[in-house]
Amino acid sequence: MVARVESKGLKRAKELYQDRPQRVKELKAEGKKVIGYLHLYPVLELLTAADLVPYAMLGDMREPITKADSCLPTIVCPFLRSIMDIGLKGRYDFLDGVVMAHMCEVGEKLAHVWRTYIHLPYSFFLDTPHATYDSAVKQHKEQLKVFKKSLESSTGKEITLEKLREAIKLHNEQRALVRELYDLRKPDPPLISGVETLQVLIATMSIPVEEGNDLLRQVISDVKVRRDGGPEKKPARLLLWGSMIDDTALVEVIESVGANLVMDDIWVGSSAYFSDVEVTEDPLDGLAYRYLMKLKCPRTFRGSAATDKKRDYMKDLEKRFGYLRDYARDWNVNGIILETIRYCDIHGYEVPGLRDYLDSVGLPNAYVEHDYSEAALAPIRTRIQGFVEVLG
Ligand code: SF4
Repeated sequence: MVARVESKGLKRAKELYQDRPQRVKELKAEGKKVIGYLHLYPVLELLTAADLVPYAMLGDMREPITKADSCLPTIVCPFLRSIMDIGLKGRYDFLDGVVMAHMCEVGEKLAHVWRTYIHLPYSFFLDTPHATYDSAVKQHKEQLKVFKKSLESSTGKEITLEKLREAIKLHNEQRALVRELYDLRKPDPPLISGVETLQVLIATMSIPVEEGNDLLRQVISDVKVRRDGGPEKKPARLLLWGSMIDDTALVEVIESVGANLVMDDIWVGSSAYFSDVEVTEDPLDGLAYRYLMKLKCPRTFRGSAATDKKRDYMKDLEKRFGYLRDYARDWNVNGIILETIRYCDIHGYEVPGLRDYLDSVGLPNAYVEHDYSEAALAPIRTRIQGFVEVLG
């Protein structure tokens, strides 16, 4: 039996996953400014071009929510309540500012509640449109101009065309590296587990983009030749679609019941990395288009597939979810888990149509809803175990 030796890249990723602010705190001591961002829609290239370090704001499902009740009702997304809670407890005090966008409706409210209760030197709300018309892309570009100006006046430095183009190049490079990492999940067994992948992505979202790219290169080269055993072959190869996973606990549950998680469609996952920014003469055009049109999240309304007045339900479903069938084919997936956080309406409303679609293309699926707490893990285990047994 080969002894299990963790690769250098995976070891570093795990360290960063377990203590996310460690690197940005070092950078702050060297004079760098760190800006927290929430979800897919804040345009990271503008932060990088302004010489700021983007830092993904995540919650903590292991920490009971005790402070956020004072400013957010109990009937909203517990992931957002958790972010507010740990913010009120001072765990984001190292940030120099935040940028939040109009993701879902509660996300939009959180941006304003955060500004009211937690006073950081910089704060910006990006009112990302929700539709995909040409006029919405134009409006988004105008928003990005305002965001750029606000960063320039806060840092006192101009974001030049060169800096912005360089930032786009670096972030596109990161996206390509993550896709290369995901390719290593295609073999059976995959070369990297779902837990390890999540650790690498969360680590990458906690450090500057250049360092994230170095980390990804290291992980990819180590994993390609890994001699430490890697994941075992298991009967189920699953894809996880859903609201939000920012802790390895749920993936550990999946991978402990006879399944390998080989693909996903979540924010801290493929959604953030599977579309590039096109290089355009005015970089804001490419950015406005990518962040509104190419990101896949049910918060954006995309309209019907019909070109005439005859609506066709199955064609609409194909337009909305066809990419999931492609993922399932390319990653050789035999089952899909649909995960939503309680009170996440935008994902919850998507589930009936998505299940209709998956049934129509013969992809077995199971739906789990949870309240973003450790207590939710036991019933999820039972549900997924039953699903995996049926697949086996
Ligand atoms: S899980 Fe749903 S409700 Fe919560 S932040 Fe994400 S999209 Fe919004």
